Amino acid sequence: MNIHEYQGKQVLREYGVKVPNGYVAYTVDEAVQAAEKLGTSVNVVKAQIHAGGRGKAGGVKVAKSLDEVRTYADEILGKTLVTHQTGPEGKEVKRLLIEEGCDIQKEYYVGVVLDRATSRVVMMASEEGGTEIEEVAEATPEKIFKEVIDPVVGLTPFQARRLAFNINIPEELLGKAVKFMSALYDAFVAKDCSIAEINPLVTTGDGEVLALDAKLNFDDNALYRHKDIQDLRDFEEEDEKEIQASKYDLSYVSLDGNIGCMVNGAGLAMSTMDIIKHYGGDPANFLDVGGGATAEKVTEAFKIILSDKNVKGIFVNIFGGIMKCDVIAEGVVEATKQIGLEIPLVVRLEGTNVDAGKKILDESGLNITSATSMADGAEKIVAAVK
Ligand code: ADP
Ligand code: MG
Repeated sequence: MNIHEYQGKQVLREYGVKVPNGYVAYTVDEAVQAAEKLGTSVNVVKAQIHAGGRGKAGGVKVAKSLDEVRTYADEILGKTLVTHQTGPEGKEVKRLLIEEGCDIQKEYYVGVVLDRATSRVVMMASEEGGTEIEEVAEATPEKIFKEVIDPVVGLTPFQARRLAFNINIPEELLGKAVKFMSALYDAFVAKDCSIAEINPLVTTGDGEVLALDAKLNFDDNALYRHKDIQDLRDFEEEDEKEIQASKYDLSYVSLDGNIGCMVNGAGLAMSTMDIIKHYGGDPANFLDVGGGATAEKVTEAFKIILSDKNVKGIFVNIFGGIMKCDVIAEGVVEATKQIGLEIPLVVRLEGTNVDAGKKILDESGLNITSATSMADGAEKIVAAVK
C-alpha cells in the first residue's frame, strides 16, 4: 500500500526522523490558513498524488508570500499532473501539502528497501539526490552506496556513519545524518514498510539534516497489524478494479493490454501473460483467483475483468488442483448472466472436475471457444481480438 508524502512525513516524525513542518490542505483557503499557521516567510506548495516527479511537472512551487500561496494552491489544486510515474493519463491533484521552505545546501538520496537477493533490508545512499535514482544507477552506479542490514542487530551506527561518509555529508553534520538514518530504519521495520525512500534528503543552511520528500510503501500482508496505516489509504488514488479485487481478496493487477486473464495460481498467471505476449497479444491484467476460491469469488473476478473497457477478449486458463474446474465454470456463467458477455471468451480447463466444468460451460449457451492447451488458448484469444 502506498500513502501520500504528508502522511509519510507524519509517520516518520513519530520515529524521530526530521522533516519540515507542514499541513495538508484540501482547498485554497485551507492552504492559506496552513501557511498562516506555519508563520514562515517562505512556504512550499506541494501537490499530493501517489507518484513522484511532481517537481518537474509543476506540482511543487515555492511561495514567498501568502498571496503566492493562494495563487499556487489555486493553480495546482484540480490540475492533472503528468509525471513519469503517473502514466500519460496523469493524476488529478486533490490535496496539497503546505510546508516550510528550506534553505537547501545540498540534496542527497537515502532509501531503505527489501533486497530479495540477500533476503535482507538494505539501506542505499547517494550524493546525487533530487534526481531519479534509477538514472543514477544506470549512469553512475559507483555513486550509490549500500549497507546490508542484519535483522538481529539492526542498522549499526558504524554502517550509518560509513554511508554518511561515502556520500560526503559535511563532517559537522555526520552525527545528525547517522541519527536520521537510524530513525528511518526504525520506522521502516516498525511499520513493515516495503520501501522508505527519501529523495531528497537535504542539509540546510542552519545545520539540519532532514527529509524534504518521503515515499513510504507498506507490505500488504502485514497491514492487518497496522490499523493506523490502513486508515491512511486514499481510495481515490487507486485503480477502481484493484480496490474491488482487494475486497474479495483476489490478487489482481491492472495492466494496459486488451486480453483479460483469469487464472489460478500466481505462477500460471505469470506464464499465461508471457504466452499471450509470445503470440503477439497484450494482457489487460494479472489475476490469480487463488486455490480455494468460491463460485462467488470467481463471479466477482470475472466481473472485474469485464468492467475494464479496454478488454476485447478473455482467456480463462485453469489448471484445477485445489481449485475445481466446475467452480470456475459456475462463476463464469453466473458473471455473464449478471452483466452479459459480448466479447470472445477462450477457455482452457484441465484437472479436478474438468468434465463437470466443461458440461456447465457447454450447457450455458455462451459462445465459448475451448482450447486444448495453454498455447492453443493463447493463440486463439490473440487471433480473436485482432
Ligand atoms: P518530487 O520528487 O515528486 O518531484 P519533491 O518533494 O522531491 O517532489 O520536491 C521536488 C524538489 O522541490 C526537491 O528536490 C526540492 O529541491 C524542492 N523542495 C521540495 N520541498 C521543499 C521544501 N520544503 N523547501 C524547499 N525546497 C523544497
Ligand atoms: Mg522527490
